[in-house]
Amino acid sequence: MTPQHLEELAGRALAEARPTVYWTDRPDAPEPVPPLVEAARADLVVIGGGLTGLWAAIQALEDDPSADVVLLEARSVGHGASGRNGGFLAGSLTHGLAHGVATWPHQTETLLRLGRENLAAIADFAVRHGIDADLRMCGKTTVAVRPHQVAVLQASARLHVEHGEDAAFLDAAAVRADIDSPTYLGGLRVRSNYGLVDPARLCWGLLRVARELGARIHEGSAVTGLERLRDGVRVRTATGSIDARRVVIATNAFPGPLRRLRSWVLPVYDHVLVTEPLGAERLERLGWRENQGVSDAGNQFHYYRRTPDDRILWGGYDAIYYFGNRIDVALEQRPASHRLLARHFFETFPQLEDLRFTHRWAGVIDSTTRFTPVFGTALGGRVAYAVGFTGLGVGSSRFGARVALDLVGGRETERTRLDMVHRKPVPFPPEPLRWAVVQVTRGALARQDRDGGQRGLWLRTLDRFGVGFNS
Ligand SMILES: Cc1cc2nc3c(=O)[nH]c(=O)nc-3n(C[C@H](O)[C@H](O)[C@H](O)COP(=O)(O)OP(=O)(O)OC[C@H]3O[C@@H](n4cnc5c(N)ncnc54)[C@H](O)[C@@H]3O)c2cc1C
Repeated sequence: MTPQHLEELAGRALAEARPTVYWTDRPDAPEPVPPLVEAARADLVVIGGGLTGLWAAIQALEDDPSADVVLLEARSVGHGASGRNGGFLAGSLTHGLAHGVATWPHQTETLLRLGRENLAAIADFAVRHGIDADLRMCGKTTVAVRPHQVAVLQASARLHVEHGEDAAFLDAAAVRADIDSPTYLGGLRVRSNYGLVDPARLCWGLLRVARELGARIHEGSAVTGLERLRDGVRVRTATGSIDARRVVIATNAFPGPLRRLRSWVLPVYDHVLVTEPLGAERLERLGWRENQGVSDAGNQFHYYRRTPDDRILWGGYDAIYYFGNRIDVALEQRPASHRLLARHFFETFPQLEDLRFTHRWAGVIDSTTRFTPVFGTALGGRVAYAVGFTGLGVGSSRFGARVALDLVGGRETERTRLDMVHRKPVPFPPEPLRWAVVQVTRGALARQDRDGGQRGLWLRTLDRFGVGFNS
């Protein structure tokens, strides 16, 4: 296909796409919950109504069913990354097996076990509480689309097998027999420890259970400040306040009420498209009978999956950082990024050239330099935070919430003893250096993808300091 033909296809396919999130654009979204309009008291206030905040509220109530737990959400539950992501559910707590093994070799086995337990607990919880979020443990396929990625995936297959995963390398013919794309040169099929979920329905199910367990939820309640009291913390919103014994901050990439978190978390916009339903005939042209999630193996990668009603969700690649950690609803529509994604879609699946996109959006990825969350406490230990899941928080946010509860409860546990938990990642530099470093790093990552996987001087220097940039 010529670049001009791809551009035409992309323009035509995007013409009618609505600028909304497919997952939350549904008639059965829960009714809005009224904001906080009183001065109240609570044992625990959770700030942020994404997956981390919801799991924090639920697990606190499972620990102590008599606790008085309040969750304050600035907009609506699931409005942030949790309701607008790809729904890839990963057992890894370390942004993938290879990164975990390289960064915490002496704790790999513990991290792997905790990750598997976390994933099993999510699946079990969904069944026990009747959460209908299409959760399927269907594994994942990573595809090589450049020659150097074949060897990377072969090594990755060996690493997965060594660590007890059900994984196999597939040559080009085998991966194309599963899902047909002329761009595939090989693949890594992992059948264990990965799944897919409908992220908005997961959020809405957790919201229902949190309320059933007794949590009080307020939407439209942005926390504007925290004030230390003799025996707790006053949590303020524009229209109310709560005096709490303890607070968990789960505001992810958003600025949140604790200024220091801005030095660790970089909000990076990640873009997503969803197509119209495929229909049986188009599906036949594609294969994809195992209906698993797929991503390609580059630094700048796409992730894609079928939705429960057999559309294709297609996202990733073009991670955009705006100067000054800017987050704004207006940035959720970036035509250049959506067009680039659409071109890549038709390059990957030329047999679907008659397919149209129905939804387009973006969301902020919560990047840290270490690709795993930053955990810690503030205000004399009465506040704990778990933020910065770096694009892999659908599963690990439950674990992150558990860690935050351990920390704010003053409990030393197997989790809090992990280096990943008690050591902080390297902070991002302040602006204007931050913006410059991100741009240089993006350029270097793109060059590595193009140059056969060779890491240039800049990336090797960052490696030496244990620092990176990823979505
Ligand atoms: C486009 C996209 C695709 C992704 N795909 C995947 C994927 O396939 N698999 C995966 O594992 N991860 C994925 N991720 C990452 C994953 O979605 C996140 O890591 C995870 O949802 C983080 O959950 P959270 O609750 O910490 O954050 P969020 O869901 O962002 O929740 C934070 C909440 O805090 C609220 N808030 C902010 N400030 C305040 C305040 N002052 N007061 C009160 N509330 C406040 C926000 O409104 C928001 O609702 C993706 C992310 C994006 C953006």
